[in-house]
Amino acid sequence: MRIAKGMIFAGAVSLLASSAAWAQATGPKSVTAPQAAAVPIPAAAPAPAKAACANPNALGIGRTVEIDTTGGPGFGFEHFKQLDFLRDHEVVLTFDDGPWPVNTPSVLKTLAEECTTGIFFPIGKHATYYPEILKQVAGAGHTVGSHTWSHANLNNKKLTEDQRKEEIEKGFSAVKWALGAPPSPFFRFPALQHPPEMVSYLGARNIGIFSCDLDSFDFKASKPQTVVDSVMRKVDKLGKGIILMHDFQKHTAEALPDLLHKLKAGGYKVVKMIAKAPVQTIAQYDAEILKDAKLPTLSSRPVSSVVQTISE
Ligand SMILES: [Zn+2]
Repeated sequence: MRIAKGMIFAGAVSLLASSAAWAQATGPKSVTAPQAAAVPIPAAAPAPAKAACANPNALGIGRTVEIDTTGGPGFGFEHFKQLDFLRDHEVVLTFDDGPWPVNTPSVLKTLAEECTTGIFFPIGKHATYYPEILKQVAGAGHTVGSHTWSHANLNNKKLTEDQRKEEIEKGFSAVKWALGAPPSPFFRFPALQHPPEMVSYLGARNIGIFSCDLDSFDFKASKPQTVVDSVMRKVDKLGKGIILMHDFQKHTAEALPDLLHKLKAGGYKVVKMIAKAPVQTIAQYDAEILKDAKLPTLSSRPVSSVVQTISE
């Protein structure tokens, strides 16, 4: 594996720290996609064999970076400025709030047509509603993290500290239940509200935090074109960045083909971010989501939802 120069190795986290001091973190390791495939990486879900891209004009994947989330590194210049790993004209596509019928499959179809990839931050409850859709996301080789259990604003002063931790932990447990395997230790706070105690908590849990460099505000868009225009205007201004979108949103799903064409035409390259190791969920919360959502345990789920024939 070829490793880029300038990597940052560190990993300390102080439990007494406030919002800033947790942030000593490991940086991303740069690897090229074919070489990365040869390295045994603990996968969050079984990765399919890499098929050749049938689209000669596809946006594709520029490079793959592996993230060591020890100490809870933060990404996205809107909140975290320590890890500036993207090169000029590199973008990371991120999708929040799924999985959701129609819109998430539409996003998956567009990403597949462009032979490219993104990070998905599903809501725990949505994962329990539509586990099969989330399995499609992971099965297509995309990175899956978590975005809390119920999309609560963790800066809401009415929530106790235990309730905030529960939102984080149950989110990961729900995604693990849906996938049948733990997802990546990648987390995004709802509404990008980052309470310092929870930032420290994620650091202690070795979970990476994803803000963004540019917010599409796609949930406010009245039509798909607005999403395309908003993202392109912002990315052209910044020259690169982690882009926040929502696979939950119809306009985003509809805008994505045109947006990816425009990114390709603008010379942008997509960076795939993968975790060095999957998240370690906590047994107490794994049990709580089964109870809260009245879910079957993994062993009592129908065989068809656990075992899928890939080829015969
Ligand atoms: Zn959200």
